[in-house]
Amino acid sequence: MNLEGKTLIEIKHLTKKYGNFVAVDDISFTVKDHEVVGFLGPNGAGKSTTMNMITGFIEPSKGRVIVNGYDISRNPIKAKRQIGYMPEGTPLYKDLTVKEFVSYMADLKGVKRKNKKEEIKNVLEETGLTDVQNKLIRNVSRGYKQRVSMAGALVGNPEVLILDEPTVGLDPKQIAEIRALIKQLGKKHTVILSSHILSEVSQICERVVIINHGKILAVDTPENLEKATKKENSIIVTVEDKKNNMKNIKSKLKGVNEVTKIKSNEDGTVQYKISANKNVDIRKKVFDVLPKNDISIFELKKNENTLEDAFLTIVNTKDNEIKNEENAKIKEEEERKVELSKMNKKERKEAIKEDKKKEKQEKKDEINQEWEKDIEIAKEEKEYDKQKKLENKEKKKSAKIQKASEKSAKKTVAKTTAKTTKKPAAKTTGTKTTGTKKSTTKKPATKKTATKKTTAKKSKAKKGGNK
Ligand code: ADP
Repeated sequence: MNLEGKTLIEIKHLTKKYGNFVAVDDISFTVKDHEVVGFLGPNGAGKSTTMNMITGFIEPSKGRVIVNGYDISRNPIKAKRQIGYMPEGTPLYKDLTVKEFVSYMADLKGVKRKNKKEEIKNVLEETGLTDVQNKLIRNVSRGYKQRVSMAGALVGNPEVLILDEPTVGLDPKQIAEIRALIKQLGKKHTVILSSHILSEVSQICERVVIINHGKILAVDTPENLEKATKKENSIIVTVEDKKNNMKNIKSKLKGVNEVTKIKSNEDGTVQYKISANKNVDIRKKVFDVLPKNDISIFELKKNENTLEDAFLTIVNTKDNEIKNEENAKIKEEEERKVELSKMNKKERKEAIKEDKKKEKQEKKDEINQEWEKDIEIAKEEKEYDKQKKLENKEKKKSAKIQKASEKSAKKTVAKTTAKTTKKPAAKTTGTKTTGTKKSTTKKPATKKTATKKTTAKKSKAKKGGNK
């Protein structure tokens, strides 16, 4: 992983709102040169929306995307030139041949005429399409269509490749091939790919951004995510729990700290993770207690903590937080209703008035908070721009200095050459110029001949020796 390299993509406070719905909620992260980063999240998490903002397809409601120093909103032409984008469910022109499509993409991306032929050849080679280049797109397999789409993204040799769900709809063989191709491309490009398939991300990506409900929940390497979410002593148990007794099972399992639902299976069974203190044998307790509570155990295994577990733990923890907040709010409203019902008419009228006032104030506070946040972001942006301007100024200044020193070095060399060629002429004034000329030009020639002679002698000796 390239931790030292330069930052190629900067995402700052990126937000997208559709009406009141926040699809992407104030996300910030960076991607370094030649990194392969996976955007992971369940359907509806906000992956495509984020990618569409990074590529400049949709305008953010707030925040910035800077690609290789170019702001996608302020300098879209230069920023977009850095990116090759493969959207989900690739729209391809199926009546074109593979080569025609790549050529068309080259024109769209403004590849220079003199480079076009070479560029198309390289891209076709890179994506393994040379053999099918003259076939109509409609006649190639789904896996090859995906390659064609990737070729379209690759034309123009962009620094960044953005691939939205690149293996969706492919069969296992095609998936393996496309993954291998992405890995290969990751050696030359910076790649961001989105996926809802965990194994895919852990196989291809060096870093993972986990997103859900439009928010970033974690950014780390797959290994670190696995480690961070690993509980010292936990098991995974799959149960059939018709009476929903797992809900209160924790209190019956002494020494157990946490019972977390992982997922519901199609066959009606449910998977849970049970974690306990180090010295507690959870398996024994679970085998003992669950059946006594009408819970049938279908499977019980030690928690190996794969990226899938890490992902589910992270996503479920956030989901539970949101659910708990919502439940607390509902509970509060219900309790208030009961309180109001116990009041007399006058008191109730007064209390409702008071509640409305409070609600209004809360909304005002919320707007103010958002405002303050926006001001903070604007300040940050201003500071960033100032910093960048300074950096550019410094770069220009040092380039100017270097150019000037190169120029003066050239001048000095020219002067010295002029002097050295002039000097002998000055010395020989009055003497036979031709003679001097002869002697100065002769010297190196004699040297050369001498060297030649010694080399000849050496090789002769060698030959003799070899014999
Ligand atoms: P993902 O790619 O992770 O599946 P998306 O980015 O496509 O998720 O969508 C995130 C959320 O934003 C979803 O709830 C989706 O319904 C909503 N959304 C996406 N596009 C629009 C749109 N044009 N109008 C309204 N809601 C949208």
